[in-house]
Amino acid sequence: MPLSIDLNDSDTRADLSAKVAAGAPAEKINLIGLDRAELRDALIKVGVPEKQARMRASQLWQWIYWYGHQDFSAMSNIAKPLRAMLEQHFTLDRPELVEEQSSEDGTRKWLFRFPPRGAGKPVEVETVYIPESDRGTLCISSQVGCTLTCTFCHTGTQKLVRNLTSEEILMQLIVARDRLGDFPDKDAEGQGFVPEGDRKVTNIVMMGMGEPLYNFDNVKKALLIASDNEGLSLSKRRITLSTSGVVPGIEKTGDEIGCMLAISLHATNDDLRDEIVPINKKYNIDELLDACRNYPGVSNAKRITFEYVMLKGVNDSLNDAKELVRLLKGIPAKINLIPFNPWPGSAYECSDWNQIEKFADFVNANGYASPIRTPRGRDILAACGQLKSESERMRKREREALNAMHAMVAGHGADSDT
Ligand code: SAH
Ligand code: SF4
Repeated sequence: MPLSIDLNDSDTRADLSAKVAAGAPAEKINLIGLDRAELRDALIKVGVPEKQARMRASQLWQWIYWYGHQDFSAMSNIAKPLRAMLEQHFTLDRPELVEEQSSEDGTRKWLFRFPPRGAGKPVEVETVYIPESDRGTLCISSQVGCTLTCTFCHTGTQKLVRNLTSEEILMQLIVARDRLGDFPDKDAEGQGFVPEGDRKVTNIVMMGMGEPLYNFDNVKKALLIASDNEGLSLSKRRITLSTSGVVPGIEKTGDEIGCMLAISLHATNDDLRDEIVPINKKYNIDELLDACRNYPGVSNAKRITFEYVMLKGVNDSLNDAKELVRLLKGIPAKINLIPFNPWPGSAYECSDWNQIEKFADFVNANGYASPIRTPRGRDILAACGQLKSESERMRKREREALNAMHAMVAGHGADSDT
């Protein structure tokens, strides 16, 4: 089992140094998820000369993220003694893959088990891949459980177990690429990294379990590696972070990550939003939309996506559609209508299909692109708000009951344009 350090702690760098200095081969450090400075430090600690460390870190990043190598011995531009040293102290092992499911529509879902961090237990995390004609989107989790309690979201019924580390966030993307063939064939001599146009995962969305802005540092570190040209080289235009409305984190996201932003709006007045997205009591709609207006880099070419889950008789009237258009006036926006995905015990129903269409037509007529998310991964419970960890996983019978409930729809909010 791969061992790694807990990158959540503020004294991470000190921990890492101590572990490396102690030369603890029994506790190999996984290099995935370390930023450049941390990687350089780690190399210096095992004896790489300071002058070389920057260059070696660059080489390693390319092997790890361009080529997907898991084996130091295959890193041909690194001298053999150094490869041996790397092998002794570090690892690139992938996490345990507990389950892999493929839907009839091509959607894939992976269940990962990550080792305990500190005193905790192992945790399980789901990641979903959604292929479409013009893109392939990976839906990544940032936390196990969530501290927030949106009433329509299954993850919201599960207490926060812990934040995921930058390693665990990135691993979801790396293993998806391993499984989908997005890294070059290791035996094909001289083959470069897989160009953007040939990749299966073209877009990522932080729309799995958890609130990414309550795990900002780890999410930021992972997304900066995902978008780095020497890292996984995904364009920041193809990375979308979705928040329920953690206002103080919004400007930081634009300034420090620079990715696309999605807002889980779901209601057009504070009374209803207080009820269904309770963080609204802390940061209300006005404050949230102000933060959107001021989102660094927002423009007509870089619009904010507003997610709106369609709940029958709750937020789906034409009056709501009018209010939505009025509220978003002046904000470069797209509206993403998500048919509600039911789960056992949920108190809502999905809006009728013709109501969703009427709603969509109204916002379209008022100048907003408003795709309705088509059902994806229904048969493998891969849709929004259905992801959860082992502790809450359904038994087979419950699963079948839920599938039966899916007579209507199961859409997904994944969207990020190029
Ligand atoms: N915590 C973040 C990101 C994860 S949720 C957020 O709330 O934005 C990703 C999206 O799925 C959010 O828009 C969320 O509101 C939506 N969602 C959650 N449960 C859902 C359900 N049962 N049906 C449809 N969409 C749901
Ligand atoms: Fe948490 Fe997002 Fe679900 Fe709300 S919708 S409970 S913020 S994961």
